[in-house]
Amino acid sequence: MLLFLLFISLFIVTACSWALWKSWQDRLQDISIQARNQSLSLSRQAQDTFLQVSIALDEIARQREALFSRPASYSGSRGILAGLSVPLPQLAGLFVYDKAGNCLATSRGSVDPQMNNADREYFIWHRDHANPGVHIGHVVNSRSTDERVIPVSLRLNDADGNFNGVALGTVKVSFFRQFYGWYEQMPGDLLALMNTDGLLLYARPFPDSVINRSLSSSPLFTTLLSQSRIGSATWKSRLDGKERLFGYARLERYPLVVAVGYETRAIRHGWWMSNITAISVNVFTWLLVLLFGFQILRQLRANRLSQQALMRSQDELKRLNGTLSDLAMLDGLTGLGNRRQFDFYLEKSLNGAMTPVSLIMFDVDYFKRYNDAYGHIAGDRCLQAVAAVLKHLPLRSTDRVTRYGGEEFAIILPGTEARDAEKVAFRALEAIRRAALPHEASELPEKIVTLSAGIGASVPGGTPDALKLAADEALYTAKKSGRNCIAGMQGICLL
Ligand code: GH3
Ligand code: MG
Ligand code: MG
Repeated sequence: MLLFLLFISLFIVTACSWALWKSWQDRLQDISIQARNQSLSLSRQAQDTFLQVSIALDEIARQREALFSRPASYSGSRGILAGLSVPLPQLAGLFVYDKAGNCLATSRGSVDPQMNNADREYFIWHRDHANPGVHIGHVVNSRSTDERVIPVSLRLNDADGNFNGVALGTVKVSFFRQFYGWYEQMPGDLLALMNTDGLLLYARPFPDSVINRSLSSSPLFTTLLSQSRIGSATWKSRLDGKERLFGYARLERYPLVVAVGYETRAIRHGWWMSNITAISVNVFTWLLVLLFGFQILRQLRANRLSQQALMRSQDELKRLNGTLSDLAMLDGLTGLGNRRQFDFYLEKSLNGAMTPVSLIMFDVDYFKRYNDAYGHIAGDRCLQAVAAVLKHLPLRSTDRVTRYGGEEFAIILPGTEARDAEKVAFRALEAIRRAALPHEASELPEKIVTLSAGIGASVPGGTPDALKLAADEALYTAKKSGRNCIAGMQGICLL
């Protein structure tokens, strides 16, 4: 039962643990797929956003000669730059700077003659790098609109390929804020746009103060991105230290990365909430099985104990029965077998006997006188003494000495002929005489307790009564012959 309980417990615990572990793994996998898909879709959106600006910048570069010779026609709300920026809602403005950093043209109203952007990071970068590609800088506060923008810029060369200025498109951070705002977020969720150096361009739901923070120590930039462009993993966010399951995707064309993170604690909480019923039911079932099991176990133990007690009392009963039946077969005064035992053993010995069974009947001589002379109590002691002498005779194990009744004793000798029985009777009478129990009232000259004996021997098919009669008649003969003698088939033997 214990093994069964152990097995059941092990089974329930293992099965439940496995099911819960599987459901947890499935939940993690679902969320990591969701995070990866969302980061991929955000990366497409970011790529399209910057690609459109890049096309506009390419168009400016294509028209650079005309622009440098007639910049006025490009500026202003009706200028060519304004025309280029109209279909691009993400743009804060389009700008062209000469090689000294002075603004030549802008899509936003008139050119401010004081405006010089030679100190801007993107300007210095283009001046120092001949790279013909688009450069995406870190977030700055626009000097013309004072809003946070991501500068997207392109180097403009002269005919000889020398640095001649910069074309700039500023992408509004608020454009991403608005777009990311369409996604429903749970507490702890995170959406972030970064460049591949780990500089944060925008993160939802964080305040703008985190913009331009370097996250380069994050595993995303130290290891993951070098292994795969798109993926998912769990790490502690460098922004707030919370552990999240992230999906990430690097843009194909631009050095930008989008990451989508779900807080692990919130995932675990959600998983617990949806599994708590199943866990409770399983734990309850398990406890119920244990409870019933231990109840049955207790019952079994109680049954076993009562069975053992029953067996013990049965044994005791048997023992008492044995003692009782022994007592029923014994004579209380002398301790010899009683008349019941005599009858039982004689019947048993004769039953199917192939050899003769002899029976010696003894009778104490002049015992009435003994009682009269010494009293009944002394008479009892005398009978006990006679019995002790008879009990200690050297006999075969099959021979049985019993008290026949009163002052009469008998010895049953199975497999013994009358001749041999006579020798036993002789030894018995001798032994009694040797005991020399005084009997002053005896008629015999020795004045001691003596026995007379009659011997009978069975014939094939003889009955107990026939044998008893034969022995009894022989005893009568012995008495008549003067007592203290043995009478048998071969006559009387006087001692
Ligand atoms: P006999 O030599 O012819 O056998 O004479 P007897 O006196 O022995 O024979 P009788 O049959 O006349 O007397 C037997 C006596 O044995 C009578 C009785 O009082 C006595 N007796 C029988 N059983 C007991 C007993 O258990 N205890 C005592 N003390 N006496 C007993
Ligand atoms: Mg008698
Ligand atoms: Mg007698």
